[in-house]
Amino acid sequence: MEKKVVIFLSFCSMAVMCLCITVLLKYPGLHLASLALQERTAEGNGLSVLSLLKDNSQLLQMSEDYAELQEHQLRLELPGSVKKEDITITNNYMSHEISLAIPGIGKTYFYDFPMVGNSDNIEDLRYDVDDRVGIINITTSRIYECVMTKKRNYLYLDFKKPHQVYQYVVAIDAGHGGRAPGANQGDVLEKNLTLEIVKQLKKIFDKDKHKIGVYYTRLDDSNPAFESRVGLANDIKADAFVSVHINSTDSGRMSGIHGTSVLYLVADKSGKSKDLAQSCLNHMLENMGSTSKGLVPGDEIYIIRKSKVPVALCEVGFLTNPEEQRLMQSKEYQIKAAKGIYEGILEQLGVDRKKKQKD
Ligand SMILES: [Zn+2]
Repeated sequence: MEKKVVIFLSFCSMAVMCLCITVLLKYPGLHLASLALQERTAEGNGLSVLSLLKDNSQLLQMSEDYAELQEHQLRLELPGSVKKEDITITNNYMSHEISLAIPGIGKTYFYDFPMVGNSDNIEDLRYDVDDRVGIINITTSRIYECVMTKKRNYLYLDFKKPHQVYQYVVAIDAGHGGRAPGANQGDVLEKNLTLEIVKQLKKIFDKDKHKIGVYYTRLDDSNPAFESRVGLANDIKADAFVSVHINSTDSGRMSGIHGTSVLYLVADKSGKSKDLAQSCLNHMLENMGSTSKGLVPGDEIYIIRKSKVPVALCEVGFLTNPEEQRLMQSKEYQIKAAKGIYEGILEQLGVDRKKKQKD
């Protein structure tokens, strides 16, 4: 009996071996294919061409336009048909990624037209072609604005800190998001209300004539980590960092308690956090006609404590108050809240709103 088992097992292992040999002989590319797949997966979005840029550094001094090149960080050569307007820049500043879409450039573009310049502050440079549009993804070490200059067939790229591009820089944070709804009463979620108010605030800032660069921690239902939210404000050295929240009673039960309050950083000895909070509170009360619940020390809250820039956390109203809950769901009231925050920020920046409006 045992002998039969041994023979059977030997037969089985022989069969498996034969099968393996057949497969390997028939598909020698299998191993290579899997390696290529691994590489592609590791690469993520496109091919890294950062080393190419570094290798091209000696080309710099040989270039005829060396002087012109020295004024900028990167230079790309464009096909004659491409105009500056055809190129789109998307700045995903929360992930430090700037992406350029250039129509009409092919797969071998970076080999045919070497990019030259220096790789300072660039962590990665990837290139991909998507439906005859070349996509260049640049990962930077911190938040930069990408400034394009076109001279003849050359496109120059420069990475500027927000304050080099804008006179004023502001960070806006819509509280909570994603799986963190914040305060909630049935279907009414704090994360949605804060997002709606911030979207209204963005509409106001988008029309603003002052030189203000505004950076948002989220404009969708995402939930950036607290470190990223306050990290954004610190990274861009914001003149004002405002986080928008909706209040609730401790028990979460509906009650008559209502009103607007703003949290600030007591530890900020410059007093700028308190000033910002006071301006936001004043203008929110003025616009919304709500009751003041005053300024509140907020040092125990992570994004306030970790902020190195003037910070204010606005509690627009109480979700646990029937009247304020109704108001805060209306677009009109959301616009009023946004307008109040906007005016509060302008006051903090020292921008004379009334005078500028007449201009
Ligand atoms: Zn909240």
